[in-house]
Amino acid sequence: MEEYMDYIVNQIESLAKIPSPTGYTYRAIEYIKENLKKLNVDCTITNKGTLIVTFDGKNNEKERAISAHVDTLGAMVKEIKSNGHIAMDIIGGYMLNAVECENCVIETMDGKDYTGTILTTKPSVHIYDNADELKRSLENMEVVIDEKVENKDDVLKLGIDVGDFIFLDPRTQVTKSGFIKSRHLDDKASAGILLGIIKWIVENNIVPEYKTNFIFSVYEEVGHGASSIPKNVFEFIAVDMGAPGEGQNSSEYAVCICAKDSTGPTDFELRKKLINICKENNINYRTDIYPHYGSDAAAALRSGNDFKSAIIGTGVFASHAYERTHEDGVLNTAKLISKYIISK
Ligand SMILES: [Zn+2]
Repeated sequence: MEEYMDYIVNQIESLAKIPSPTGYTYRAIEYIKENLKKLNVDCTITNKGTLIVTFDGKNNEKERAISAHVDTLGAMVKEIKSNGHIAMDIIGGYMLNAVECENCVIETMDGKDYTGTILTTKPSVHIYDNADELKRSLENMEVVIDEKVENKDDVLKLGIDVGDFIFLDPRTQVTKSGFIKSRHLDDKASAGILLGIIKWIVENNIVPEYKTNFIFSVYEEVGHGASSIPKNVFEFIAVDMGAPGEGQNSSEYAVCICAKDSTGPTDFELRKKLINICKENNINYRTDIYPHYGSDAAAALRSGNDFKSAIIGTGVFASHAYERTHEDGVLNTAKLISKYIISK
């Protein structure tokens, strides 16, 4: 997969820069559709907005599904305050200090964009005592927009209203040392990897062992991403992320294989199969446990599907904050998926 790394990293960068908080994912899905078209690959888009690409296999009776989600964290206009500042509600789960002082864009229903900054209501040490001790809660955070507004009416006149989406600046950077730093690597890193895998399949005329569905889901961060999947799927791999940190076994340089998350253990046999593929092919892998983590595999299982599930992905440091991973972890994840697809 080494020769696909430039393509994958470019796709991760491009995808990270396309705003797609849960509920507003059509631009990211449209981007994926356009890129599939360049590869002459057909796809279907479900009512909910999930994009599915299917490749026939040697065996078409049984199917596999490999998912990545393109919805991300974000926010929404909750209230326009009398002083013209904007109270927000969050989309997905994150610490508010992770978005403090972050640039953002508010998009109106008419498609107009306004920039702003997410700040606390006491954003300056020159004015407020103990500003650092202010609890970072939704009541104490707001968006200050970059327009000359003094009151609520001024803001309404711009077309901004309750319910408008707020996009966080992803601040995507790829360093010379191979690190990829950005918001929303969860799960744009995996979506980029899946595009690379699809390109590899097409250009090398790879025939998967079983009919294989690539699912780009859109409601993962709120718990029902890949809830509806093709009927005959017997193995489901959610490509998401590993979570490295204190006490964790995950790594930014490895493909992380989840043994247990908040919904319980993943399938033992499938996990063993994936680990064996890593061992046989010298793929750097780590197994780990994520107590505060759910995935598309859980969403699909909860909605009554019957399959073996696994969760894999590159290690993403500082997840749901300003995230970081490394090209090595991305490559190892791509390698595992490429070998899995052609395995029995
Ligand atoms: Zn995720």
